[in-house]
Amino acid sequence: MTTISQTGYRIHAWGSDPVWETFELDEPGAGEVLLQVEACGIGLTVLNAIRGDLGNDPGLLPRVPGHELVGVVTEVGPEADRGLIGRRVVAYFYLTCGSCAECLTGREPLCQRLGGFVGVHRDGGYAPFAVLLAANVIPIPDSLDPVAATVVADAVATPVHVATRASLVPEDRVVVIGAGGGVGIHMIQVAQLTTEDVVGLDVTSEKLDAIEKVGVRAVDSSDFASLTGPFAEGPPTVVIDLVGAETTGSWAIEALGPGGRLVALTTFVDRPITIHYREFVFREISLLGSRYATKAEVARAADLVATGQVTPVIGQVVEPADLLFLHGGLRSGGLVGRGALDWRL
Ligand SMILES: [Zn+2]
Repeated sequence: MTTISQTGYRIHAWGSDPVWETFELDEPGAGEVLLQVEACGIGLTVLNAIRGDLGNDPGLLPRVPGHELVGVVTEVGPEADRGLIGRRVVAYFYLTCGSCAECLTGREPLCQRLGGFVGVHRDGGYAPFAVLLAANVIPIPDSLDPVAATVVADAVATPVHVATRASLVPEDRVVVIGAGGGVGIHMIQVAQLTTEDVVGLDVTSEKLDAIEKVGVRAVDSSDFASLTGPFAEGPPTVVIDLVGAETTGSWAIEALGPGGRLVALTTFVDRPITIHYREFVFREISLLGSRYATKAEVARAADLVATGQVTPVIGQVVEPADLLFLHGGLRSGGLVGRGALDWRL
């Protein structure tokens, strides 16, 4: 088998910073494609992955992190569709089996034989080339700018899935908690495609400004205890909690109106939230979990960005040499929206 030599970032121990180094990459095998990576999105999930939260087997190392990669297919292995050559694609985050009942019915995030994640169990986009299974790439419109497209496969697709889970309708009054972050800033835009009544909660002036900039009312949620409303017309009918703390969950349950839906997305191991059935019963509130997005929803997310219905909010774009600075800004909560690594710089 021939190999390609490339210089990029790899993790050598879960929990430590990726290291810039030169290493070999095998050419695509059966059913695989080779991508020239153009850009890779950076959000909290990649930091969690590097920390080992999504898999910490030392046998997986060294590993190229980065699941939000955008690139052009330059080569395909045997049994992969040659029609993909030259196409711009985004990676689908989950390594799904493709043959279980959930995969066959378009509910890929619930795959019964999940093989792990891009950037954890297979190399991702923190290097200029990547080999993925053809089943793990989703073609996007060629007109989409690669950096803009870094938000498609997670930061926009996840909100598209939430909108479906919450069965959003034009009459809904939606509150998004943590609306200035990478998923939140796109969540409020996706919610606005269905209803005009959307409010974004967050805590820093930069994030509140960013929320207003995409045309959504921003409310400072530094002190949940004193937060009332926030709709004059009545209580929210949907609360999307991207923070997932006791304070945010308790506030949401109390704030929701009759028939309200609370959508949970966070997966913290050590953050339980107290619920009382009586509150759910008396107002017939529903608590919904929302896990990533289906492949069809990733394609829909690409269309929403390509047609300008959702504007990518990318607070910082860096060249490879500045990657670790971006990680630092993300950890401190200072980054507005998503970050991106641009391999063309
Ligand atoms: Zn499956």
